[in-house]
Amino acid sequence: MKGKPMKKAIWLLFVCLWVFDLPAQTSVELHQYVELARNLRRVGLNGEYAYTLLKELTALGPRLAGSPQAAASVEWSRQKMVDLGLENVHLEPVEVQRWVRGTEERARVISGRLGSKDLTICALGGSPPTPDDGILASVVEVRSFEQLEKMGENVRGKIVFFNVAMDRSHLRTFRAYGEAARYRVQGASQASRFGAIAVLVLSLTLRIDDVPHTGVVAYDKRYPKIPAAAISTLDAERLHRILSRDPAAKVFLKLNCRNLSPVLSANIMGEIRGKEKPEEIVVLAAHLDSWDLGVGAHDDGAGCVQVLEALRLLKHLNVPLKRTVRGVFFMNEEFGATGGREYVHSPNRKSETHIAAVESDAGGFLPLAFSARTDSTGLKKLRRWLPVFTEIGIHRILPGGGGADIGAMRRWNTLLIGLVPDSQRYFDVHHSALDVLDAVHPRELELGAIALALMAALLANSGG
Ligand SMILES: [Zn+2]
Repeated sequence: MKGKPMKKAIWLLFVCLWVFDLPAQTSVELHQYVELARNLRRVGLNGEYAYTLLKELTALGPRLAGSPQAAASVEWSRQKMVDLGLENVHLEPVEVQRWVRGTEERARVISGRLGSKDLTICALGGSPPTPDDGILASVVEVRSFEQLEKMGENVRGKIVFFNVAMDRSHLRTFRAYGEAARYRVQGASQASRFGAIAVLVLSLTLRIDDVPHTGVVAYDKRYPKIPAAAISTLDAERLHRILSRDPAAKVFLKLNCRNLSPVLSANIMGEIRGKEKPEEIVVLAAHLDSWDLGVGAHDDGAGCVQVLEALRLLKHLNVPLKRTVRGVFFMNEEFGATGGREYVHSPNRKSETHIAAVESDAGGFLPLAFSARTDSTGLKKLRRWLPVFTEIGIHRILPGGGGADIGAMRRWNTLLIGLVPDSQRYFDVHHSALDVLDAVHPRELELGAIALALMAALLANSGG
């Protein structure tokens, strides 16, 4: 057992040196990639191929895992990969949880003194329904888990209202999302632990509007599974005002969402085989499933069509590739990234070495940077490629993660990279009815595809 970590460390060192050992990439070669960047930009920006694909994909409807529309999008993706002339196009099975929203989502605050008012809400993913005649209960507003803990048994029989906003002061909005999302993800079980009968959670957005934002709830098996809904930011303010003037106000909540039996779905993949080391893989990743309120144009339809467009550009420009570049559309990221886990456990991975994986799952906005899960030496080496990326407006390689779908590849010490677009507007639409085609700009989307193609070419040909 003792030898294992040592072996791993030596192997890791070897991989790091080898993949990013760039002496072979002299300035002359980097110059070739600058040329490639210009060509990708010329061909990519002169068309709207990624956007045309996104139009087709989003026309299929929302792609909630396990839904008929998700199944249709799997077939659409397979066909597109075949049409592009990719090799080894195939599906790999993924079992997915099937949750349906139902037709009724109603909430109303009722105050003896202040009257009553409907609240804009949506059920959160995985929530059970309320009883047929709904729930009518007092509401306890909390701003943190610590506050909930202090209230303890005082929340028994009540609805807990998690009124915790995303921190507006962060430049990178994903950071604010990461901090606040725990109330959506864990809030229901934390409240249930103390006997609450339902939760309302402030929508995760930086806009003050009437649009609720859904997302997954992770229910802890130790506590009763209680209904969970997100409330719009505007109505959360209203509810807060009413509760501060009339703490005895009650909320009526009615949801008829349901959890059905799991169904079989799939990850979809296709590749351009490497000419010298085909068993060494560079993955371009996105997830095909989406939430059901919009059509997942940004999350993550944008990532999927960028992967397709990146592969098309590489083929169109006949870019020589030593290693294999594989596009993978993962299924079921939204309900726990199960597609990503199935991918690494597939027996098909046995004879493969995953050198790097690059994910686009942060929206189809203007790409500003890449983030990479590596140490300072690794970052330094990647940053040697910046003169190439500058050609397409990317000036930074940041420390950070790759993405939820490729996260499971950590076990292989695969270099994980994420495309980092401008994040200021992403949470306006994320997981909501606003995540539609019109929210995506064709040129911004295309630049993300160009960035993926360029990164794939550099990774597929670097070192070794
Ligand atoms: Zn996503």
